[in-house]
Amino acid sequence: MRGVTGFDLIRAVMTQPFIPTAKVLRTTDPAAEQEFHQRASQATRDRFGKKVFVRAVVEISNYCRQNCHYCGMRRGNRNLSRFRAHHDQLAELIIHHRPPSVTDINIQAGEDPVAVREVALPLIRELQRHTDLGISVCLGSLPPAIYSDLKNSGASIYILKFETASSARYAEMEAPGSLDRRLENIRHLAASGWYVSSGFIAALPGETDKDLLANFSLAADLPLDGCSVSPFIPGEETPLASSPVGDINLTLNCMAALRLMRPDWIIPSVSALNLAEPGSGYRRGLRTGANLVTINLTPSEIRGDYLLYKRDRFIMTEERILSAIAAENLVPSEQSLTDFYRSRKVNGTHLSSVKKRALQVS
Ligand code: SAM
Repeated sequence: MRGVTGFDLIRAVMTQPFIPTAKVLRTTDPAAEQEFHQRASQATRDRFGKKVFVRAVVEISNYCRQNCHYCGMRRGNRNLSRFRAHHDQLAELIIHHRPPSVTDINIQAGEDPVAVREVALPLIRELQRHTDLGISVCLGSLPPAIYSDLKNSGASIYILKFETASSARYAEMEAPGSLDRRLENIRHLAASGWYVSSGFIAALPGETDKDLLANFSLAADLPLDGCSVSPFIPGEETPLASSPVGDINLTLNCMAALRLMRPDWIIPSVSALNLAEPGSGYRRGLRTGANLVTINLTPSEIRGDYLLYKRDRFIMTEERILSAIAAENLVPSEQSLTDFYRSRKVNGTHLSSVKKRALQVS
């Protein structure tokens, strides 16, 4: 029998699932960090080539029944004038005036069941009738019957972030319900046929190394098709206004780790990266494993009150997004996210797991 060669060892390391350590995530050595980000970028190119998915977001309501400490739209913020968008105005905008590069629409709001019924559902029906856009929603923790209505209307991707894997920190932040309930919602969505993306906030005030690492094991355990990481941004009108901004390098290291952990995931470059590092954060996300960008299409007269972080928002316009993609030598995907996900599933099962099982049998 031949001995173990260097090649065998390299192959063994390459086929192990990637599990980050706190040392890797918190490295401040620029050379080590660059090498780590380069590996993540290469893993993305190996899997997706130069293509980046381009979606547009419309923010349909800033009413929120939740009170998350990190979010400016929390119900406790009495200084915010609240709005609900008009579905017909949004339908007109998206059907007739969307940028040609957009393949998917993401409908986002505070946790507002009224907006789901009066804005999201009629909008989704109109988009289904008149376009072939993929439709994702990010509307919070809702009862199963509302999830079904959204899916039956034509949405197929649900974004529900677990925010932090620490149930103590989750409760401290008054995030929606409890962490266990949030995870039940995520599992329910996946089991009922949604493509599910989740995510967490890096450097939430009070986060320990243990909390940080737990985000990765939780994400790996959940039935997800994508995952995001956003730097913590101290919101102007929140109890955390004087906390420090999440470190950009830590956040990018987390993105790289997610990519190496799951080369097949959809990972967005989030607009908050540009708040953590003005001018370059977003583009660095595209160099660190991201393969999804988001153009903001919320009408200008309402988006100022969609207060996640600060009133002075950095709006990701079509021009900014397309020039970031081009500057990174990438190209917009012509395939929608929804079509991409569909092409990966056979009878509701991920192609990757079908292949894995076939390999185990052979
Ligand atoms: N209300 C829905 C929900 O809770 O799922 C969806 C919209 S919520 C406003 C969108 C996301 O914004 C949250 O899931 C959270 O991760 C993020 N977010 C809010 N405030 C933030 C902050 N200060 N820093 C980083 N991310 C934040």
